[in-house]
Amino acid sequence: MLQIGVFGGAFNPPHKGHERLARHFADKLALDKVLVIPSLLPPHKDGAHLASGADRITMCRLAFAGDDRFEASAAEIDRGGKSYTYDTLLALRGRWPGARFYLIIGADMLASFKTWRRWEDILAMCTLCAAARDKRGLPGDTGIDAVVSDLPPFEVSSTAIRDRIKNRQDISGLVDDEVARYIAVRGLYLD
Ligand code: ATP
Repeated sequence: MLQIGVFGGAFNPPHKGHERLARHFADKLALDKVLVIPSLLPPHKDGAHLASGADRITMCRLAFAGDDRFEASAAEIDRGGKSYTYDTLLALRGRWPGARFYLIIGADMLASFKTWRRWEDILAMCTLCAAARDKRGLPGDTGIDAVVSDLPPFEVSSTAIRDRIKNRQDISGLVDDEVARYIAVRGLYLD
């Protein structure tokens, strides 16, 4: 049975915390494929300082280049409107009937998971996989069935990276080198 990871987010920009989390679950669960899916309009974010969909897809492609398991997907960007994971999973099930899906998320998303649109239906369609993103670790008893991992956190956020760029600070080590180059060439996040 095909095992497919689904890794959604704003990826504004994609960073090493994202790479680490997704690669960890790809290895741990021996996933055949991981779809990295930038949202068009993230339901949980205000959209200010959001780079274009095309830029974010390109950066996701660069961040995961060289690992054939990973594929940047324009599914949510092409669909238009708010990007709900429920709709994305429905579409993926149509595209890969019979596959098993694994939704990869960070601890903050696990903590707020019950606010997601149709979260119970999402749980029926996939296995949730979560890991800490900072020293706060994973949320306590959420009552949500998930594969949790003790992967040591790599503390970085897209917000922190955008702030560093705005303040003309170095971002090497926080994002993939090719992503850093792309951001510089395109002049992203300077204001
Ligand atoms: P922003 O700072 O703009 O809010 P972000 O860094 O939280 O962005 P997203 O693109 O919103 O990044 O995150 C996509 C997914 O990756 C989410 O499930 C989030 O929990 C997870 N994630 C983000 N950063 C990390 C990290 N450092 N370690 C583990 N998971 C992370």
